[in-house]
Amino acid sequence: MASIATLGSHCALQVLKGAKDEGFKTILICEKKREKLYRRFAFIDELVLVDSFLELLEQKCLSVLNENNSIIIPHGTFISQMSSEQIESIKIPTFGNKWILRWESDRAMKEKLIREAKLDTPNTVSSPKDIRGLTIAKRHGAAGGKGYFLTTSEKDYVQKRDRLISQGLIKGDGDLYLQEYHSGVLAYLQYFYSPLKDEIEFFGVDRRHESDIDGIARIPAAQQMEMDGIPSFNVISNSPMVLRESLLDQVFSMGERFVEASKKLVSPGMNGPFCIEGVYDENGKFTTFEFSARIVAGTNLYIDGSPYTSLLYNEPMSMGRRIAREIKQAEKNGSLDKVVT
Ligand code: AMP
Repeated sequence: MASIATLGSHCALQVLKGAKDEGFKTILICEKKREKLYRRFAFIDELVLVDSFLELLEQKCLSVLNENNSIIIPHGTFISQMSSEQIESIKIPTFGNKWILRWESDRAMKEKLIREAKLDTPNTVSSPKDIRGLTIAKRHGAAGGKGYFLTTSEKDYVQKRDRLISQGLIKGDGDLYLQEYHSGVLAYLQYFYSPLKDEIEFFGVDRRHESDIDGIARIPAAQQMEMDGIPSFNVISNSPMVLRESLLDQVFSMGERFVEASKKLVSPGMNGPFCIEGVYDENGKFTTFEFSARIVAGTNLYIDGSPYTSLLYNEPMSMGRRIAREIKQAEKNGSLDKVVT
């Protein structure tokens, strides 16, 4: 039997708890500074201590993982701490499609996949000169919203950009991507696509609490005008949500279109967990500003299952456990190659 391994951060607890519940040996690649934290959890069978997560690419880690027949579960920390080339070079079977993670990191590729899936998406503002209405400036990669800002003119953009440069967060315009801002109810839609069953499961929906754009809403406009700081969109936590039932049909079809598009553009397609992220307007129309092509941390809310997994399973089903179950099923059928790359 395989073992299940991941990096110690993001959603590692959920992933390894789910793996243990499905009967797998669990292995954590753990930074030494976090050893004490992760030793608190009895469902983690083995810790491989490292100074940096990049050691995942080195022989010491590889031999432990090979000896244990491990399957790696990628999450947001892989994207934020490793380049696409490094992720693609991981020599351990990786759950889902490791090639699609590049499409998450690269804005141009990301937009291509969103458009192929026929998801409505905000217009890109191609140059600071073209800023007209409310525009969001975002950093590339999985920056978690840190250093993002809102702007309405080129002049204001230049001031804010220069401040980020002086803080060492960016080097210049090339590190920022401009997009029309859409206002409404933000929602992060969590899915699992099973290549074994050729079926999409809607796992849950969450909202994010972002510092300090969320804090601004608590301050009256008069005091906001006197403030000098630039609020960022740094994700701090997540809360559960449910959607109006009349929106669910659209949720499933968006997920299905995304899976279809990914099969066309990046073989073998969007296998396993993913998330479509966007905003509902007053007519219930969803505009997608982002996707994550792997498990998102918002699924940590639902370790005991979500309102939507309760409709699909008669037992608590987290995303971590669902991943482990897919691997278990694939091992049983002799079709592991269908669920890993
Ligand atoms: P992202 O990295 O694209 O997930 O963006 C981080 C955060 O910025 C999101 O969680 C939203 O709060 C906000 N955001 C990003 N793009 C847009 C947009 N086009 N319109 C409104 N809010 C956005």
